[in-house]
Amino acid sequence: MVCPICSSKQTEIKFNLTDEHQVLCCINCGVEFLFPQLNDNELKKLYSENYYVSWGISGKHENESTKQMKTATFHLRLNRIKQYIPSGKILDVGCATGYFLEAAQQIGFEPYGVEFSEYSSSIAKKKFGEQKIFSGTLEESNFPDSAFDVITMFDLIEHVCIPEQTLTKAASLLNKNGIIAIMTPDTKTISNNLMGKRWTHYKLEHFFYFSRSSINYIANRCGLDVVHYERGKKALNINYLYTQLNIYKHWLLTPLINIIHTLLPAKLTARNFYFSIGEMVVIIKKHASNTL
Ligand SMILES: [Zn+2]
Repeated sequence: MVCPICSSKQTEIKFNLTDEHQVLCCINCGVEFLFPQLNDNELKKLYSENYYVSWGISGKHENESTKQMKTATFHLRLNRIKQYIPSGKILDVGCATGYFLEAAQQIGFEPYGVEFSEYSSSIAKKKFGEQKIFSGTLEESNFPDSAFDVITMFDLIEHVCIPEQTLTKAASLLNKNGIIAIMTPDTKTISNNLMGKRWTHYKLEHFFYFSRSSINYIANRCGLDVVHYERGKKALNINYLYTQLNIYKHWLLTPLINIIHTLLPAKLTARNFYFSIGEMVVIIKKHASNTL
């Protein structure tokens, strides 16, 4: 199998994720990838309304503790972004129903979004306007070149079929001093080492698994440089973990969270705490030579 990132033939099977899908690892660039990727029909089915309901982010089933938790995480990300770019046009790729864009708008950014799910993008369009939200993929979008100061891809790059195309398109939409902020699972983490194939980020909708070095490798191929790396902390609360772990069941964590959820008073199960669960945040800029 040829590596879809660097074209090296030095790849090996890491493990079987299902009877039909394997996770492979590239010896050359270090990326891990799912083979075969889900096809369009399988993806459409996965990203239908039920997917968002299960994540507690559907308009109909909006869950207050999920919303509070996600807003707290977005402010962590926005504080980092503001160190580079204090205001301007921000494009959130994979904006879902627009929670992050609402938080960005509140602190002075002009919000734009791209969302694959028609269901979610229709909700985002109602919030920000038809012309601000593109329904489809980033590659299909029709925003003008160099239009954005900040492009965010949170929990996105691991889902796309060809990450190099997505990053190249993002680079073309970015103004010369702009930044791209990416959050994605990081294979070089303690949780990955400890959990192995049971790592919670290994799932069929994740086609690629990067590390600090492999994300830098692909960024360089797109005329970009990683200028900042950190562990990707997220706000979490017990209510959210309880919901998640009863959808994606884990032999140890699911019974554990069920006990905690039963024992703790409701006030505590809704309280946010900050936790790194095997993800990284990187800030990416165009090569210095491209900004002349
Ligand atoms: Zn490779």
